Amino acid sequence: MDIHAPISADAISLEDRWCAHNYKPLPVVIARAEGAWMWDDQGRRYLDMMSAYSAVNLGHGHPRILRTLIEQASRVSVVSRAFHTDRLGPFLARLCALSGLDGAVPMNTGAEAVETAIKAARRWGHTVKGIPANHAQILVAEGNFHGRTTTIVGFSSEPAYRDGFGPFAPGFRSVAYGDAAAMEAAIGPNTAAILVEPIQGEAGIVVPPDGYLRRLREICDRHNVLLILDEIQSGLGRTGQWFAFQHEAIRPDGLCLGKALGGGVLPVSAFVARRDVIDMFVPGNHGSTFGGNPLAAAVGLTALEVLEEEGLVQRSAELGQHMRDRLTALAHPAIRAVRGRGLWLGVEIDPGFASARAVCEALMGRGVLSKETHETVIRFAPPLVIDRADLDWAIDRFAETLEALRA
Ligand code: PLP
Repeated sequence: MDIHAPISADAISLEDRWCAHNYKPLPVVIARAEGAWMWDDQGRRYLDMMSAYSAVNLGHGHPRILRTLIEQASRVSVVSRAFHTDRLGPFLARLCALSGLDGAVPMNTGAEAVETAIKAARRWGHTVKGIPANHAQILVAEGNFHGRTTTIVGFSSEPAYRDGFGPFAPGFRSVAYGDAAAMEAAIGPNTAAILVEPIQGEAGIVVPPDGYLRRLREICDRHNVLLILDEIQSGLGRTGQWFAFQHEAIRPDGLCLGKALGGGVLPVSAFVARRDVIDMFVPGNHGSTFGGNPLAAAVGLTALEVLEEEGLVQRSAELGQHMRDRLTALAHPAIRAVRGRGLWLGVEIDPGFASARAVCEALMGRGVLSKETHETVIRFAPPLVIDRADLDWAIDRFAETLEALRA
């Protein structure tokens, strides 16, 4: 152990003193991680059932990602888009081939990919669809989470994300999630796009009815409206397919990706779209200093290769089914529902039994790290590289935790 490292209490109080209180972390101080495991500053080991909201789909410190990171960093890391590089083209070509789309805008964070999608949709609405200038409307879903910029939180339905941060940008209308008919009814002549998550992660891992995406696809085709999917959390293997839209055999017109695209080491995101949408961007009308830098592109390409070559998408489908079967078989009275897809499950806890936060704190004491979403849902989203035996171990600890809380 590093003897210069502050002990946990110091680390927590330092963070508390100097960092804005916009998160409420569990009282654990992570000092190191490898694969699906993390260690605190006292050397205690924890299984990561969070994967940094899917940013760590490949596990911590994947050797191939680290090799790419070091090799590329020692060659060249950041040049801005003022110059071409030998890394960006191969990365985006692979991303487009995998998603079946025609071009991409490289960005850094998820929220930036969504902002890029909003810009593309509005400009497409004005210039291709013929919507009067500054009147393009985008339909979104209640319970959405697309990031934290002022435009994005402006169409959130969660007061905590919005309160005090207005005034907000106009041009969005929120419709009940999972209700395709309501979405169609909300379409007007100025509607440029529908923007939804295939599964709503932050809302509590909410899975829409079967056929929802297919119906949205048909509706968008019928009304000449773009279908834009935010797969920043659901994409890249998390649900047991490369992209969640593949569960319904459709293709969106635009796709937001992020998180796992950075291989668990960098912020790498992209807006990927069909040709006429991506062509809305011309020199000068959009950009990002760091977006598409050669280090990010090299890591992003390696992340895609690792997902493919290590069969992690299939692994997510198989282990996800196993995790679901085991959690369901617990048949514990505290569990109201188990929902999700692939290695991405939410367990709804009966609030009369315990808060999801209390369960997460007790789980931490048994060496499993997860995080509640809202008051009642615990997410189980381990790195896709997790061993089956480790997954079983975590589920055993969860069962013990529920029993201990009952006692
Ligand atoms: N979209 C979805 C579906 C997300 O889950 C998130 C983050 O949790 C974001 C967008 C925002 O990503 P970022 O935090 O990288 O801006």
